[in-house]
Amino acid sequence: MSDNAAPCEDFLRELVAIPSVTGSEGLIKDYLVNKFNSLGFDTRVQHVDGDRYNVIGTLGEGPIRLMLCTHEDVIPSLDESKWTTHPFQPSEREGRIYGRGATDAKGSLAAMMEAMARLKGKLLNGSVAIAAVVEEETGRSIGARRLLTEYRPEMAIIGEPTGLRAAVAHKGALRPAITVHGMAAHASHPGRGVNAISAMGKLLVTLNSYAYRVSKNKDPLLGRSSSEATMIRGGERINVIPEQCTVCIDRRLVSNETIDEAYHDLQMVVRRFSRKYRARAEIELLSSYPPSSTPLSEPIVKMASSVLSGMGLNPEPNGFPAGCDMWAFRARDIPTVILGPGSIQQAHVIDEYIEIAELRKAVDVYERLLQKASQ
Ligand SMILES: [Zn+2]
Repeated sequence: MSDNAAPCEDFLRELVAIPSVTGSEGLIKDYLVNKFNSLGFDTRVQHVDGDRYNVIGTLGEGPIRLMLCTHEDVIPSLDESKWTTHPFQPSEREGRIYGRGATDAKGSLAAMMEAMARLKGKLLNGSVAIAAVVEEETGRSIGARRLLTEYRPEMAIIGEPTGLRAAVAHKGALRPAITVHGMAAHASHPGRGVNAISAMGKLLVTLNSYAYRVSKNKDPLLGRSSSEATMIRGGERINVIPEQCTVCIDRRLVSNETIDEAYHDLQMVVRRFSRKYRARAEIELLSSYPPSSTPLSEPIVKMASSVLSGMGLNPEPNGFPAGCDMWAFRARDIPTVILGPGSIQQAHVIDEYIEIAELRKAVDVYERLLQKASQ
């Protein structure tokens, strides 16, 4: 612990020092349980799978008026040698704390912990809760979905780096792989085979037109839909006509789109391509999560705006460009806002950091929200 540091700063350093990369969330369970207990929360673990647990702390009795929720997992350090200091040894420079997860989303978690601790001993109407859940980073929201099989808060805040803006919507994602099949042959006799890479060239042109078409779909908070080829693989040897070629697509959805409709549309694109070029192609859905939003008329949105404006921060709700666990809450009809310290530009980068001043401000924001919700 350092002198004059707010508790959230110490929590954040301790959290960053635990390399809870997706899949290894088991490493962080004991720390959270001990900390939540020592802060006086009524603490519970909820088994998810293997050695992975959600950790939930509550204060007060009765219905949960507001739940603060964020994720335990972080993405890997990427190229460790490029970091100025070790990604899992937090360091402080120029009023910032550096380390993997500082912004996404252990800064939110640390601030939520201090905010909850400040409410300890206060008289609450109902209860309030903090939940740290596993596996957000893959987009599968496994922890959040498990959490909501047993908890039903009246309102929720998702801790993600929004720069302390209240985000009321996020995009969805649809990630298929499309494989084009050809026929292998010796490269000296190309006519005896069917070149899957050449066929893929035509498919990529088709997919570019598709991307242009979907980009016309626009949402006031989330901007445009998109479709991008993000990975490609094809061919086995330099002197063999390739038998197959696979491309992976990252398709982002805005509020008025559904996974089913978007996937059906893309399936039709692939089918038409197959017919036109007589190339056998198949599409397989690898992962998806829906876009979601909370109506501006919901009390949680008004509450967040009024707290932010009371602190001199921007009260205007906006959209969150990345994925997060909000959709799991909205699927259960729980009014939810995404709100946390740090910039999304700092998520998933080398030398990830959070501004300490913003981290501290987040504690006040969360504390006021908890107070208002439990009055
Ligand atoms: Zn995150």
